[in-house]
Formats: sequence, structure tokens, C-alpha cells
Amino acid sequence: MRGKLTVGNWKMHGGLAENAGRLAALAGGWRAQAGRGLAVCVPFPYLAQARDALAGGEVGWGAQDVSAHAAGAYTGEVSGAMLADFGCRFAIVGHSERRQYHGERDEAVGAKARASLAAGVTPIACVGETLAERDAGTTGEVVERQLRAVIDALGADLPRIVVAYEPVWAIGTGRTATPDQAQQVHAALRGRLERAGARDVPILYGGSVKASNAAALYAMPDVDGGLVGGASLDAGELLAIARS
Ligand code: PEP
Repeated sequence: MRGKLTVGNWKMHGGLAENAGRLAALAGGWRAQAGRGLAVCVPFPYLAQARDALAGGEVGWGAQDVSAHAAGAYTGEVSGAMLADFGCRFAIVGHSERRQYHGERDEAVGAKARASLAAGVTPIACVGETLAERDAGTTGEVVERQLRAVIDALGADLPRIVVAYEPVWAIGTGRTATPDQAQQVHAALRGRLERAGARDVPILYGGSVKASNAAALYAMPDVDGGLVGGASLDAGELLAIARS
């Protein structure tokens, strides 16, 4: 049975002093619960801090991106093996902000997912449509295309990943997909994963998730948890979401 996984995405926020309080609150506030998982994806420079604060506890940690390459002359890139060195459980790949500001294309996202998995770090592969695409009625087509690139890149390893449906129009806008809107897309993604032999891949919902709306989203049969941006900067809020 699939449980509920909540993953915080701090984006480019934080600092050593600020993180210390946040990480201590997460470590102290989260107890292992059957079928519930919690992790935070922090900026690269703070991976060691997250590891030191969270190691030995129940809260996992990860990164917000990973290189598609294993090693070499790729200035500024961070490999999956480097993330594994710091105990990362997860790496987000294909976040819409990477697609939008760094020109990441579907094939690159697939390659990043493959590289992450090869290093033993679970990729959280993000898909999601823009408002214009939703208004044009192409949501299904867009997320299917984005997911297909990951399916094609991973082959038999597909069951080992996590997928996140993050409608771009709901990220950081305060505008959340309704539980029914989320369920509709998640069910379509589930169908596509099932056809690829990976029915039980967890599918997280992301886009302005808060403690006040998480329970209704998490109650949907194909919503297996949340990828939480802004609200994850408040440890109490993230804990409340994870307990939803
Ligand atoms: C995200 O960054 O993945 C995200 C969903 O952000 P927010 O929760 O702030 O919308």
C-alpha cells in the first residue's frame, strides 16, 4: 500500500542560523508513523548541515537538482554521487522553475532522473502545465509528454522513482488545484505509470500546499503526499502538512 510522503522544497531560501532552528524543529517534532514520510530538499551548501541535524532520525533530506552527468568538466554541476556522499535520499528533477529559468527540457529531466537513481538517490520527477496550457485544454497532453521522457530514460528502474504533479499556475501563487483537479491529473499519471509497469510509484501534489488544504488533497486516492515550497519554510506548518 502506498503511504503519504511530504517533501519540503526550501528553494533558494535559508542561511546557517535560520536553518538550524528549522531543522531542529523538524527533527524534534517528527516521530515515525506507519505509512508517513517526511523529508526536506535544501540548497546544496546546506546538505552537510541537514545531514548533521537530521542523521539518525526519521526526517530525510535531499537536493533540489542533480547533474545528468556522473563526473567531469561540468562547472557548477553537482553529481548524484556527491549527493549520495551527503546522505541524500531525494533529488528533485525537472522542477518548473528549472524548466522556466534554466531551459531544462524533457530529455534533460529524464537524464537527470537516471543519473540520480544510478547514484542511489531517488529522483522526484516534476511535471505540470502552465495556466495557458490548462486553459487550452492540453494539461493531459503536457504532463504525459513530460512523464514519457522520464519513463523512456528509466526503463525497468521506473518503479524506484517519485513523481510530483505541480501545476505551474499553482506554484507560489497561493492558488491551489482543487482536490478534484489534482485527482484527475494524478489518476491520468497513475494510468500512464501502470502501463509502464510502475503503478505504485508515489505521486505527490505540489502547488501552494498548506496545513489548511493538505488534508483534503491527501484524501484523494491517487494523491500520495505533497511537494511543499513556501510553506516548508515554517517547520510547524510542514509538520502539520505531513501529519494530514
Ligand atoms: C514547489 O516549489 O515545489 C512548490 C510547490 O511551491 P509552493 O508550495 O510555494 O507553491
